[in-house]
Formats: sequence, C-alpha cells, structure tokens
Amino acid sequence: MNRIHNFNPGPAALPLEVLQTIKEEMLDFKGTGMSILEISHRSKQFEEVLNTAIERLKRLLGIKEGFHVVFVQGGATLQFAMVPLNLSLPHRTVSYIDTGTWSTKAIKEAKILGKDVVVVASSQDKEYTYIPKDFTVDSSTSYLHFTSNNTIRGTQWKEFPNPNGVPLVSDMSSDFLSRPFDVSPFGLIYAGAQKNLGPAGCAVVLIREDMLSRSPKDLPTLLRYPVYTENNSLYNTPPCFVIYTIGLVLKWLEETIGGLQNMERINEEKAKILYEVIDRSGFYRGTAQKDSRSLMNITFRLSSEELEKRFLDEAQKNGFGGLKGHRSVGGCRASVYNAVSLESVRSLASFMEEFERVNG
Ligand SMILES: *Cc1c(COP(=O)(O)O)cnc(C)c1O
Repeated sequence: MNRIHNFNPGPAALPLEVLQTIKEEMLDFKGTGMSILEISHRSKQFEEVLNTAIERLKRLLGIKEGFHVVFVQGGATLQFAMVPLNLSLPHRTVSYIDTGTWSTKAIKEAKILGKDVVVVASSQDKEYTYIPKDFTVDSSTSYLHFTSNNTIRGTQWKEFPNPNGVPLVSDMSSDFLSRPFDVSPFGLIYAGAQKNLGPAGCAVVLIREDMLSRSPKDLPTLLRYPVYTENNSLYNTPPCFVIYTIGLVLKWLEETIGGLQNMERINEEKAKILYEVIDRSGFYRGTAQKDSRSLMNITFRLSSEELEKRFLDEAQKNGFGGLKGHRSVGGCRASVYNAVSLESVRSLASFMEEFERVNG
C-alpha cells in the first residue's frame, strides 16, 4: 500500500481508519449479505446509520435540542440558493459578508433570486486577504450570512461576526467540526461534505427549529428545509453511501480523536508547524494577513511562478499531493483538514525546509 501525504482542498483526505472500515464492511454490511451500496434506504440498518450519524454530530457540538440535522444533495452550492429561498422574510433585506469566491457566489445566487441583498462588509479592497472587523448589521434584516473559512484565500473567522440579534447563517464547508463553537446564535449552518466530513455528494445542514416556519410553501418540494426535517432526510432516496461514510468520520472524531477540543488542539499544532516554516526566512510568503490566517487552508507563494512550479513538481515526486493553489489565485496551498495527520504535516514542513535549503 502506497498512500501519499494528501493535502487536497476537496475532495480531501479521509482518516485511514474510516477507509479500512469501509473496505471491511463492503461485501457484507453488518450481516445483511449486501454492501451498504445495495441496501434499502428504508431498511432498519440504514436508518440506524442515519440516526447514529445525526446523534454523534449533535453530541460533538453539544446540541441538546432546538436544532435539526439534515443531509441535502447538491453540495454547498445548492445551499447558496436554498438559504435565501427559505429564510428571507417578506419585504426585508438579506445581509452578507463578502470574503471571497464562495461568499461572492452565495451573494450572486441570492441576487438571481431577486432578494434585496445588502453586503455589510467586504475584504475585496485587499484581494480578500483579511477578515473584515468593523461593520454594522441592520436588526431588521432576514439573516447575516458569512463564510467561516475561505478555502481559496486562506482566511478564517476566529470569532464569529456579531449579528445584532438577527440569525447568523454560515457556510462552514471547509472548517466545520475543526473546532468547538456555540451554535446558539446560528439560524442555519451548512457544509459541503467533501472537505472535513466525508466524500462529495451532499451538504450537512443544521437548522434551528424556529427557522422552519419561514419557508414558503410554494417552493419545489426538494428545495424546502421542512421537507427534510419532517422526513428525517428520507423524503426521497438520500446519498446513502455518503451519509454512511460521514457517520464513520464522526465516529473517528468522537472516539479516536476524542472530540472537538482535541481536534482543535491538533489543528492548531498542524497550522503552527507550517506557518513557522513560512515565516522563518521570507523564502515562502503567506498570502493572508496574520490575524486572519486559516488553520485549514494554508496559502503561500514563492518568489516566482517558475519556482512555485518546481516546488509543486518536487513535492509531487516526494509524495506530497494537492499543494497547488486554486486556479483563480495561483500559488500554493496546503489544505490540512481534520483527517490530515500531524505526521503528514511534519513531513511537509521538512520537505519545505529542504527545498528552501537547496533553492534559497
Ligand atoms: C468547496 C466549497 C464550496 C463548494 O462546495 P460544493 O459542495 O462543491 O458546492 C462552498 N463553500 C466553501 C467554503 C467551500 O470550501
């Protein structure tokens, strides 16, 4: 077996333990004589998979009541539309903070739907290299939407924005469950699964109970959150294999890692190792402002595109994958989601030091 050090931005690394369980259970899932890919989504075995995943997720976040957890196909991108469709109030604005690509796309989608969009803050003036600090939110707006971690620019909210009493809505696709946080100010949280949670194929959505009554009845059935909550994500056939794998990742988080506090400590250590290498000499240059740096996506440049290309080529040859920056911004990016091990990060740091010694 020859597995690389996987720094892919998404779909991304999964815990080895999870992949091994999938392999072991593939031909005969829990004595059914079938794989999880072949059993009914109405079977008691699948229902247990689904309900166990939901319970684990709530336990990890310390949620006792008041929130629903549902699985929706269409990735985070469909949520860009479902959020304004379901949560905007009649004759009220919807508010957004623009911190780059994904939040820009969320804003665009709300505009397509004809919503009265207010962008309360933006970091566009400095190429989205920081998290905005000073802004005010109108207390009568429907909700305040922000992107908790900016996967492409490598910035992250350390403290969540103050919503002035309106429900917070967050796209947490690239840092969900990377740290503990208080869910109470949130009306809704969504995360595409393929970064921190599992394989591609759905978004996990947390919805506060009181948000459901906002949903207009004249939307297409599968675009209404209440259809998911009332049917426990089983109105139609859900992405069974994705939910099963997410369940295994949640089990790993809870039982092997020991919860979100431990996960956060490990993630902080991983990021620190790489930022220290980046900051040491000037050979590498971090692209995000220091107080806005992401613990999940570590973005950096070298002195020329030619040197960056050499870095990426040699990294690949040495068993490090996924380090190319997003095609829209270039440069390099190490995505160090939950499942990327400390050992992989230490190996990358050594490789970076060696590359600097030879090419610096
Ligand atoms: C990857 C990503 C998305 C897009 O997710 P899809 O599941 O491909 O729709 C949206 N937002 C953020 C923050 C992301 O990192």
